[in-house]
Amino acid sequence: MHLVPTQQEVVALLRRTGAIRNGHFEYPNGLHATEYLQVQLAMRYYQHAKVLSVGLSRLLRANAEIRAMIPELSIVSPDTGGLPVAYGVCEALRANQVYWADRNRKEERGTMHFRQFMEQKPGEKVLLVDDILRSGRNLSELKNLVESNGGEVVGIAVIVTQPTPNTIDFSPLPLYYLAQLDATYYKDAGSCDMCRRGVPAEKVWI
Ligand SMILES: [Zn+2]
Repeated sequence: MHLVPTQQEVVALLRRTGAIRNGHFEYPNGLHATEYLQVQLAMRYYQHAKVLSVGLSRLLRANAEIRAMIPELSIVSPDTGGLPVAYGVCEALRANQVYWADRNRKEERGTMHFRQFMEQKPGEKVLLVDDILRSGRNLSELKNLVESNGGEVVGIAVIVTQPTPNTIDFSPLPLYYLAQLDATYYKDAGSCDMCRRGVPAEKVWI
C-alpha cells in the first residue's frame, strides 16, 4: 500500500471491514441512500486504523503552513468517534495534544462543550479531526465552539467525505480526506427509486 493510500485502496479496505455497506438505507433526517458508511467498523482493527491515520497525516504534512505549526498544534474531535483518527494523526505528526468535545446527554442533541479546564488558549492552533464528513453539522458546531473560546481553526481532516445535498461548505478552510464516496441520495421516500421498487429500507442511526 502507498504511503498515502489511494482512493481505491481506502474504499477496498472499508468494504473488506464492513464499513461500507450497499443497500437501501433511511437516515434520521429522512434522506434515503444506496450506500451506508460507518468508518468505525474499519477503525476496530489497529493496523487499518494506523494505515488510515498515517496516510491522512502525510496529506497534512504536505501543507507548509500546517507543517510549521505541528509542535503547537491541537488535534480536536467533535466526539469520541473521531478519537482513533485524532490519536493516530497526532502520533504520526508528533503534534502537541488531542482532546474532544462532549454533549449534554440529558438532551436529545445536547449542547457541545469541552470538559472543565480543557478550553482553548487564546490563539491556539486547532486542527479539527473526525472519521467522516457527511452533513458537517458536528464539525461546524465544534468550529464555532473553538472559535468562541479564542482558538484558531487551521483545517479539517477526515478519513472519508460523503457529501450530501446539504453538506456544509467549510471553504476557505483546507479540508483533507483520503477518499470521497458519492452515494445516491433521495430526499425522501416519495422520490426514492428503491422505495418505488418495494425494496425494504433499513433505518440507520446516523
Ligand atoms: Zn427509499
